[in-house]
Amino acid sequence: MSRVLVVEDETHLAEGLRFNLEAEGYQVAVADTGEAALAVLAARAFDVVVLDVMLPGIDGFSVVTEMRQQGLYTPTLILTARGHAGDVLKGFAAGADDYLTKPFELAILIARIGGLLRRREWMQATLAPAPVRPESAAAAPGPVQEFHFGDKAVSFDRLELVVREQVYPLTLMEAHVLRYLIQHEGKPVSRQKMLEDVWGLHEDTDTRAIDNFMVRLRRYIEDNPGRPRHLLTVRGVGYRFVAEPKPE
Ligand code: CA
Repeated sequence: MSRVLVVEDETHLAEGLRFNLEAEGYQVAVADTGEAALAVLAARAFDVVVLDVMLPGIDGFSVVTEMRQQGLYTPTLILTARGHAGDVLKGFAAGADDYLTKPFELAILIARIGGLLRRREWMQATLAPAPVRPESAAAAPGPVQEFHFGDKAVSFDRLELVVREQVYPLTLMEAHVLRYLIQHEGKPVSRQKMLEDVWGLHEDTDTRAIDNFMVRLRRYIEDNPGRPRHLLTVRGVGYRFVAEPKPE
């Protein structure tokens, strides 16, 4: 039985979610503050976290940031307020895997939770805009599930980045962004295009939020994040991924 942690301070909403998710066969725990959520997560394992952003005390962004810093990669869906498009990117930058805007339809939430639980299939089917097949990769049929660059390898089905012996778990969104950059290997991609293609955001979102996300990715994939060699900034445009940088 899959275990869902609902972090929501509005009691009626939290209890409504508990009731409906239990009816769907999930085991549900509720935390009404971010602090309580972190305490519960430290004590017990969950398969999915549904996390409201607006909480008393520390907010949902801080909760997901703290989870990821602790190495806790439980798939996390954040609930953002309508009209706060920037919150979506902020949530992804903090390490969230998916989001829903309040008010949401219960059926959609249940479908998204199911999606996060089947994250491997979800990654392959729904999230991938097209198979990864950069020119430098072998022309294998079907989506490439592993990509090697330098002394690093990213596995899209295991959601891991392996740097020499070190294994870094990736969130779904981190894997998706990396996949997108790899698909466009060697070519500049604009922030606006990434927002549309990767995040599905067409609104007039502040594209600088993407930069926070890139800082995160660089910490994983660059030997010296201050002097990136794979994930390059293209001034005035966006980013360019280089699989095999020229020797310095
Ligand atoms: Ca709230």
